[in-house]
Order: sequence, then structure tokens, then C-alpha cells
Amino acid sequence: MNDGMMEAFGLKGHVALITGGGSGLGLAMAECLAAAGAQVVIAGRRRQVLDEACAHLGDSVAGIEYDVTDTGRAGEIIKEIVNRYGRLDILINNAGVHCKKAVEDVTREDLQSVLDVHLFGAYALTQAAIPYMRANKQGSVIFISSMSAVMGMTNVTAYSAAKAAVLGLVKTISGEVAKDGIRVNAIVPGFIDTPMFHQATDKDPERQKKILGHTPMECYGLPKDVGWAAVYLSGAASRFVTGTALMVDGGCSIGF
Ligand code: NAD
Repeated sequence: MNDGMMEAFGLKGHVALITGGGSGLGLAMAECLAAAGAQVVIAGRRRQVLDEACAHLGDSVAGIEYDVTDTGRAGEIIKEIVNRYGRLDILINNAGVHCKKAVEDVTREDLQSVLDVHLFGAYALTQAAIPYMRANKQGSVIFISSMSAVMGMTNVTAYSAAKAAVLGLVKTISGEVAKDGIRVNAIVPGFIDTPMFHQATDKDPERQKKILGHTPMECYGLPKDVGWAAVYLSGAASRFVTGTALMVDGGCSIGF
């Protein structure tokens, strides 16, 4: 890679936190950011999953046990990372849970538990990270949204509410912190081959058929398709990009 490319897409010297980084899209983003030179911290609930991911990804990836719904600890987690690595440049709010139920079957607890992870968990870490990023006059916060936030999908009311809320956060927070050198964007993945995707669709071949029928590229995405998009939004190549939602969806959101 020549120097210009390295400057635009390289992440050497950058420190990133990725929630839910032990599997699926989080793991792929960790791999891509580490390949671009970043020091990556993956946060998740399961020590063994984190350890396996770190062993697979090598020295530039470390694991930290953290349940994002434990929002009272968000400040402590960010501080721990800054103490250990000296800075925090990139926060990727990726941790997610799914809930597939008909609208009348969704309980208040279902709704609350989905919002707790996607919305409240991401919100708390973002709030905690901003002061450190502001002090460095640089930062990139990335939220992972979903097709269910931009098009009508049945039986995922709690999930789509959470993913649409995340797009609202991107628009509002990006405006508040832009002058401090902090950029805030969303990636909107289409249908990507991950454990969560299988959990949501394996018992529903009709839905799988529908998804492929709505995806002009006629295939599912690969986790690294999202990983490289995260590298772009993390570094200097996207220096002037904030408040936006990048579709990584094989054309799904075109709508027809
Ligand atoms: P996944 O299940 O492999 O990953 C989700 C990760 O989040 C897991 O590692 C899980 O343990 C972690 N997590 C869940 N609750 C947590 C909590 N309370 N604290 C910490 N970690 C927690 O699924 P994925 O497909 O890789 O999903 C990653 C993100 O991408 C999610 O936000 C999901 O909604 C979103 N997404 C996925 C797709 C897709 O097609 N796979 C499409 C659109 C959006």
C-alpha cells in the first residue's frame, strides 16, 4: 500500500472499542480494523468467546468482559481502555439481540430488553467516550443499524424500533460533536451471513426466499463486507463524512 493509501485507510496508532466483538459482524470488524493497524478491544459477556476471538485475531486484539446493559459501568469501561492504551479513537456500537414475534405477542419485557442492548447500552458508552474523544479533537463513533429501520419488515417490532432509534441518535449526536472533530455515523447492513441471521431465519425458508428476492445482488453479505465499511468510516478516508448511514446491503434498500 502506498503512503497516500495508508494515510487514508490505515489505522495505525488508533484504539477501537467494538461491542459484541466476539462473533459475527463484531468479530469481522475487529479483524478488519486490526488488519488496518488499529489496537482493538472487543467487549462482550462471554469470557470464553472473547478469549477464542483474541487467540484467533492476534496481539492487536484484546477482550474485555462487559454486558452493555450494565450502563452504570460504561464510564469505568471507557476509562479502563484509555488508561491501558492512552486513548480511544473509535467506538463501534455493535452488540445486538434479536426478538422475532408478532406485534401482539411482544411483552413489555421483550421490548425493554431489546432497547436495553441496542439503544441504552450504545447510548451510555457513547456518552462516556465523547469527553475523551473531544479532548483529542478526534473520534469516530459507529452505530450498527439494520434494514428493519429503513424498510417495513414484519414480526420484528422491538428490533426495528431499536434500530430506527439508533439512526436518530446518529443524526442528533453528530451535529452536537462535529465541531470537536468527532464523527458519528451508522452502518446499515443488509442480510449478512452471521449466527444472528441464522437464528432469525433458519426456521423460516419463506423469509429467506423473500430476503434474496429483495436483494438485487441475489446473495447474503459476508461479515467482512461490513468490516471494511467500518474501516472506511473509522479513518481519515471518511474525514468529511458524518451524520450519515452507509448501506451495506447488496442493493436491498433500493426497494425494488
Ligand atoms: P451476533 O449474534 O453474532 O452478534 C451479536 C453480538 O452481540 C454477540 O457476540 C452477542 O453476544 C453480543 N451481545 C448481545 N447482547 C450483549 C450485551 N448485553 N452485552 C454485550 N454483548 C452483547 O449477530 P450479528 O449478526 O453479528 O449482529 C451484530 C450487529 O449487527 C447487531 O447489532 C445486529 O442487530 C446487527 N445486524 C446484523 C445483521 C445481519 O444480517 N447479521 C443485519 C443488520 C444488523
